[in-house]
Amino acid sequence: MPTDPFYDYIIVGGGSAGSALANRLSADPSVSVLVLEAGRSDFRFDAFIHMPAALPFPIGSKLYDWKYETEPEPFMSGRRVEHARGKVLGGSSSINGMIFQRGNPLDFQRWAREPGMQDWDYAHCLPYFKRMETCLAGSDTWRGGSGPLVLERGPATRAIFGAFLEAVQEAGYPLTDDVNGYRQEGFAKFDRNVHRGRRLSAARAYLHPVMGRSNLTVRTLAQATGLRTSDDGTRVTGVDYTIGRRVRRSATAGEVILCGGAFNTPQLMQLAGIGDPAVLQAAGVTPRVELPGVGANLQDHLEVYIQHASTQPISIAPWLRHRHKPRIGAEWLFLRSGVGASNHFEAGGFIRSNDEVPYPNQMFHFLPIAIRYDGSRPASEHGYQVHIGPMYSDCRGTVHITSDDPFVHPAVQFNYLSTEADRREWIEMVRAARNILEQPAFAPFSGGEISPGAAVQSDQEILDWVASDAETALHPSCTAKMGDAGDDMAVVDPATMGVHGVSGLRVVDASVFPYITNGNIYAPVMMVAERAADLIAGNTPLPATEVPYYRHGEGMPLWPPGDPRNEAWDATTDPPSAAGAREGLPQMRPEDAGEPA
Ligand SMILES: Cc1cc2nc3c(=O)[nH]c(=O)nc-3n(C[C@H](O)[C@H](O)[C@H](O)COP(=O)(O)OP(=O)(O)OC[C@H]3O[C@@H](n4cnc5c(N)ncnc54)[C@H](O)[C@@H]3O)c2cc1C
Repeated sequence: MPTDPFYDYIIVGGGSAGSALANRLSADPSVSVLVLEAGRSDFRFDAFIHMPAALPFPIGSKLYDWKYETEPEPFMSGRRVEHARGKVLGGSSSINGMIFQRGNPLDFQRWAREPGMQDWDYAHCLPYFKRMETCLAGSDTWRGGSGPLVLERGPATRAIFGAFLEAVQEAGYPLTDDVNGYRQEGFAKFDRNVHRGRRLSAARAYLHPVMGRSNLTVRTLAQATGLRTSDDGTRVTGVDYTIGRRVRRSATAGEVILCGGAFNTPQLMQLAGIGDPAVLQAAGVTPRVELPGVGANLQDHLEVYIQHASTQPISIAPWLRHRHKPRIGAEWLFLRSGVGASNHFEAGGFIRSNDEVPYPNQMFHFLPIAIRYDGSRPASEHGYQVHIGPMYSDCRGTVHITSDDPFVHPAVQFNYLSTEADRREWIEMVRAARNILEQPAFAPFSGGEISPGAAVQSDQEILDWVASDAETALHPSCTAKMGDAGDDMAVVDPATMGVHGVSGLRVVDASVFPYITNGNIYAPVMMVAERAADLIAGNTPLPATEVPYYRHGEGMPLWPPGDPRNEAWDATTDPPSAAGAREGLPQMRPEDAGEPA
């Protein structure tokens, strides 16, 4: 009988984090790396992946999507919420919205306050954010200039984007040069994972360029079904996997690194007997390593769309008609331009919905069309919308296996809207968004609010609408959080990415966040992978770099230190929260706020 092949590292999941890790670890020719990816390859000719505007198509298709849905959500009238997850090389980065948000520096300061997490503060994370990116809008103290992730800034040249950026100022909020730079708070054009009209996924940026390395093996349609362990479960020695469900294979490893994302990573650990004994026993799995944090602490961003009809032909809606599709396809294919070449999330911003939160808790994405993620649209032809929702809600959920069958999805429950603070923020945020959309700059365009509509006014009506209408922004995370071994709920050692109490097993994906960050989470996932690669390979970590970054309430200049625009700005007056903006004070004049770069 042939023996199982041995690899120094087996990476489970060739998704976002897995692609970056595979690249960095296989850079050492003396180590062998196997990547197992359950989905197909991200073929070059697959326009549904590579054409940025095609992003609604893979969602909900079993060719690209794991198609999870939640258990009935108790605070949303028992609704099940659909959760797409990329099942293809590149993982969710091959089907996501391509919006690139690092999160606020204070997100990482919050991480670093957790026991054992001191080396994950902003100063330690920043060099890795910079290492991974080529920011085409310009590299500087905060932004990188030579990394694999090439970031194009949204042009936001359509008139309706101009109205949006004017309206936010009329509502009292500042613009900012770069939400990923010195000051996140404010509104700006957004960076995207789009380059030369194509999606630049993690697989395209990190994996394909190194596929030829003789020490790197990438297997697609290969789903890990179980971890091979020592008898007591405390040492992982390899992986069982299937190719196309029928063909069973296994491989042994020096280290297994779980990169299957916030649902599959806890599932595989639980199937191996690592987790909360009560959860495991209920699913018919013998507990072997007690780690109650596995599958706990689940966090996400829930969002709604405030949609307006437009009286003017300003949106991209007509382009969605069938008769225009050949032209969009041809323009994209031959010229890499036109409607197909953008994700259309070209601008947005960050505010604080009240005066108590330490940093922005509300993100806006502005879209020049009224449309849902699944592509469904209201009857009116032209429209526009903002996507909003709490960015660091205190709602917590779980991912629990209910069966010992690896092909059965785990039970996922987020408990959206379950806390008083979350519900309060929802009310504040809907009102803040409406305030912006009702500013004079939109007067030439607005044909009235389509959703939620005039009937939704009171706090309770807003909450009822959110409960019945909200969708996920698709950022599940935190289900195997990093933290000190003394923290009962910590799963992963922040210094090594190893699983507490288990040797030969590490985790590197969205699961390891202790707290969700205050924006889309792809960029922080990639930062974690970059930093984890150095920790795992034993490289000297990049030195921490202390740089200034804006914090309200601390007398900080509005623009980077030394910027002449600071002279026109009274440093004692911070940008208002939504509460402050509604009261009309302090109002910022547009000329104080400057123009985005
Ligand atoms: C539709 C959608 C839109 C989004 N939009 C944005 C956005 O615009 N901006 C943003 O920042 N974030 C966005 N996100 C979120 C972001 O893309 C993800 O949070 C991030 O990519 C997750 O990275 P990951 O490495 O944790 O997991 P993934 O990238 O999902 O990778 C996990 C990989 O593991 C594979 N896998 C899982 N289980 C197994 C197994 N047992 N065996 C083998 N392989 C396995 C999966 O197929 C997948 O390829 C979006 C997500 C989705 C789904």
